[in-house]
Amino acid sequence: MTFIEQWLRTDIRDIKAYNVPSSKNMLKLDAMESPFGIPENLQPDFLDCLKRAQVNRYPDANAEELNTTIRSLMDIPNDLGVLLGNGSDELIQLLAMACNSGDLIMSFEPSFVMYEMISKFTHLNYEGISLNENFEIDLDITVKSITSKKPKLIFIAYPNNPTGNSFDNEVIKEIIKSTDALVVLDEAYYAYSEKSFIDEISNFPNLIVLRTISKIGFAGLRLGILVGSQGTIEQLNKLRLPYNINILTQASANFLLKEKKNIHNNAKTIIDERGRVFKELSLISQLTVFPSQANFILVKADNINSLNEFLKSHGILVKSFKDGSKLKNFLRITISKLQENNTFLNCIKDYYGKS
Ligand code: PMP
Repeated sequence: MTFIEQWLRTDIRDIKAYNVPSSKNMLKLDAMESPFGIPENLQPDFLDCLKRAQVNRYPDANAEELNTTIRSLMDIPNDLGVLLGNGSDELIQLLAMACNSGDLIMSFEPSFVMYEMISKFTHLNYEGISLNENFEIDLDITVKSITSKKPKLIFIAYPNNPTGNSFDNEVIKEIIKSTDALVVLDEAYYAYSEKSFIDEISNFPNLIVLRTISKIGFAGLRLGILVGSQGTIEQLNKLRLPYNINILTQASANFLLKEKKNIHNNAKTIIDERGRVFKELSLISQLTVFPSQANFILVKADNINSLNEFLKSHGILVKSFKDGSKLKNFLRITISKLQENNTFLNCIKDYYGKS
């Protein structure tokens, strides 16, 4: 055993690191990124704005201008508080750090894997309540489970990753009412869904909403947003590391997130493309295609490994799941712009002999 293996917490030594596959020269349809970069006409002003960033100084610790920009982009009412993180992953970690060691975090199965990973890092327990065969919440089972296990924190991805559906909002309200846990509605895919819980925050003291700019064109900037009552955000802010939003992210996001129309139009393009890709995939009888409110689509098929290898050999990277997992027969495909979606569709039709 090496020094570090001996030295490290055994539970950390025994887990596998979060794996990001190499994507060099591949068409990246695996990580729900946006295909749209910075519009050409904005690039000179964007560079000017970066030039003015004083990288020899610490960034604005409270990121005040960025706070205002985000509130305007996401229509966050002034009476709510906003906490910014280095990606929403950092905010999930911050919430876990606010728990007592040994507390329970609950979410659903399948859902975003970082809820469980971060629980482990932070000495918390984790339990995922199984979704039914349509990936919906069984309210009875959920409330019983919550009542008996008394979680401290509940994450609900809305829409859910990797399934793409948005759970029934009345069901979610029942869950919020049934528990003393802090309930986090993770709206990472808000731009592709019609529904949000931001307006419900004032009705439930135990509700907060998590968002990110990663799925609307800015994954590289690493910026997550937690929205809650002023009092909730004030307390949670104590756990934030000083200067967690670096100066280049603040400068870039302040510039780029003011382009509301552009961001909105890009989201609309992806929603339209999602409809088209869904229809085309539904014509392939070997596939089961799941409706999505996000910028990706989940599909199920026999021999999924062979399909995945075929796509890979044609330079297309999509998300597959571990052999032991419940999703081992599924692939999750990010929706991109027309040309890239066509490259993917042609390849999958080719595989099934339909071209
Ligand atoms: N929440 C959900 C539901 C996600 O799917 C993801 C990213 N895949 C995140 C949070 C993390 O996003 P970020 O890039 O802001 O860390």
